[in-house]
Amino acid sequence: MPSFARILIDRSEGRELDYSIPQEWKSRISIGSRVIVMLRNRRAVGTVLELADHSVAPGIRPLLGMVEGETTLTPSMMRLAEWMADYYCAPFASVMRVMLPPMLRGEKIAGRKVRIVRLFKIPSEGELLLIRKKAPKQGMILEFLKSSGTPMPVLELLGQCSANDSSMKALVAAGYLEISEERAASRSSDDEEILPSRIPKLNPDQESVVQILHKAISILETEAVVPVPFLLHGVTGSGKTEVYLRSLARVLESGKSALVLVPEIALTPQTVERFRSRFDHAGEGSARVAVLHSNLTDAERREEWIRLQSGEARIAIGARSAIFAPLKNLGIIIVDEEHENTYKQEETPRYHARDVAVMRGRLEGCPVVLGSATPSVESYRNALAGKYSLLELPRRADNQIMPLIRVVDLRLQGKRAKSEGGLSAPLQMAITKRLELGQQTILFLNRRGFSTSMLCQQCGHVCRCPNCSLSLTLHRADNRLACHLCGHSAKPPVRCPECRDPGIQHAGIGTQRVEETIGKFFPTARIARMDADTMTRRGSYGDVLGKFRARQIDILIGTQMIAKGLDFPNVTLVGIINADIGLHSPDFRAGERTFQLLTQVAGRAGRGETEGEVIVQTFSPASPSIQHARHHDYAGFYEQEISFRKAFRHPPFTRMLLLQIRGVSLDDTAQAAAAIAKKLAASAPPSIEVSEAAPAPLERAHGQYRYHVSLKSVSGAALGRLVRDTGLASHLPKGVILTMDIDPYALL
Ligand code: ADP
Ligand code: ZN
Repeated sequence: MPSFARILIDRSEGRELDYSIPQEWKSRISIGSRVIVMLRNRRAVGTVLELADHSVAPGIRPLLGMVEGETTLTPSMMRLAEWMADYYCAPFASVMRVMLPPMLRGEKIAGRKVRIVRLFKIPSEGELLLIRKKAPKQGMILEFLKSSGTPMPVLELLGQCSANDSSMKALVAAGYLEISEERAASRSSDDEEILPSRIPKLNPDQESVVQILHKAISILETEAVVPVPFLLHGVTGSGKTEVYLRSLARVLESGKSALVLVPEIALTPQTVERFRSRFDHAGEGSARVAVLHSNLTDAERREEWIRLQSGEARIAIGARSAIFAPLKNLGIIIVDEEHENTYKQEETPRYHARDVAVMRGRLEGCPVVLGSATPSVESYRNALAGKYSLLELPRRADNQIMPLIRVVDLRLQGKRAKSEGGLSAPLQMAITKRLELGQQTILFLNRRGFSTSMLCQQCGHVCRCPNCSLSLTLHRADNRLACHLCGHSAKPPVRCPECRDPGIQHAGIGTQRVEETIGKFFPTARIARMDADTMTRRGSYGDVLGKFRARQIDILIGTQMIAKGLDFPNVTLVGIINADIGLHSPDFRAGERTFQLLTQVAGRAGRGETEGEVIVQTFSPASPSIQHARHHDYAGFYEQEISFRKAFRHPPFTRMLLLQIRGVSLDDTAQAAAAIAKKLAASAPPSIEVSEAAPAPLERAHGQYRYHVSLKSVSGAALGRLVRDTGLASHLPKGVILTMDIDPYALL
């Protein structure tokens, strides 16, 4: 039996230390066990990373004990962690951090009542500045909650900010915070009433897909062959969710558990509700659903974790990080909307939950289903190459027809559409018709604010953020200019700051402006806007959707918040105000993203009995992304996209590793980037392409200059090996930061 354990210590910046294992623990300790140790002169909690018979570390101390009832990662989860650390070039400790839920890294709060504080209204940068000046502690509290993004116990928050109750009470009085008393480990979801759902009869397409999945699930009960992952390509409204539900039912029957990933819990309430209503009410001994929501407190998350680990809940639904849910005896992993970028984590470890899902499925020996109406180019190529098995649902579930998509050429609409808040005559007419018929309309524009920039008509000066290379967006409601990246805010100038001309004007269209225009054109219509500016309160998203469902809203205007998963039968018109946003961005996935977004948004129309209509406004009507979306032609889109990727050796023909070098000093950053590129080029084998160091498309953000060096190779492992062997991080100038991103999505 091993005598020593290497412990990764919590809250210690990833320190690993060796401890000896007292006799009494030897038989119980394993890799992944949670233990208590002395670190200098304080007690600390850590995770066992390795067990050994020998240790050469000096001054070894014994472990103090094991944390009772705490998680231990299963051997396959440990293997997954190792794979992630290796593949994503991430420190092992950073991987452990995402795998263990927050509360398991801290102290226990048992089932007593605690006061929980949450952000009720998000302060604007301007307000925050003011508060910080007047009452620094209050400022700190707000900032802390804003950045942590989750509710937390009052005492914990006060401790973290070394503040006292009075600062918090002032913030509650001012309407920023909300305090509620909750059982420490309660589930917010318990109070809601869930109705059992009607189970539809499968159509023939669904039937054959479900047959194949059932077979894959059953085979595993007898043989140890793991099927290749499935790619379920089903058009919007084809009934993919029903296919997931049937597969889950089969898995539960066989006594196993299931994991479902969705892009964003908050934005997919309907999907989550469908899972819960099918499985969560079915009485004694049924498989309960654990929803891993980002709005859970640490204590709540911990309880969900324990329910999953104990098997009380056998279905976990959650966003990206739910891929690490501690389910035992996994029978299936489903990744809904597998093409969504939210599956990619944009901080270390920069993993892609879809790819981790495929790996977890392989390690745990369970089927993986990736579903989408618009599969990522990577996944579809894997399917065509036989690495994934392709399943298709080419028709809408209830035999509704796909909506008719009309493209309106904004160039021909000329000044008129521009001066009228982006509404072309055909779109206006279509809205009028819907209002007359009592049907509903969704208007989509992927840009919040009133206008996109302030532009001087005389000298061409544009108001820019002092910290980022971005123009400032006008927000009319509180009359300020804001940077959508760093939050910088300023008063709009009356005269051009450059040439003093009074003719400085706002240009471009944001959702606020669309709302204003619609209000003018259709004074009696009931309008709601849904974007990051209006959805600042907890529950506001659900409120608006509830009203929309109850048909108390005629026209819903929104950003990508309304692009996903909404299923409202009375919506017969979807208008896309400007399809070009993002199309010309310097990112090789720009065309793919545009196609996906248009297809998904268009898919919100005509889900009921009446046929739907979609109007796409664009300045580039001939763009292949727009044309293929218009004809519901995924195959055509893929053909053209894949030949473009091949010609430029872009993924999926190569794996890519993006190095980002950033710092406050332009010279230091540029030099460091050049040195890194040179060093890599010198040591790279011929199979790896190393780019020159170049300023990132977004040259400056949050006050830092940004440079990129990108590597391409057919083998992802070779890229990791190269950067590890080159030891890049060791001689960076002070103040310069290097990050590495394998299979990057954020290329700006
Ligand atoms: P997707 O997830 O592919 O976009 P959904 O699963 O949301 O599609 O299904 C679209 C709509 O069709 C839903 O309202 C769903 O209840 C309904 N539906 C699904 N399968 C069937 C079926 N076999 N018969 C009738 N209606 C169905
Ligand atoms: Zn900025």
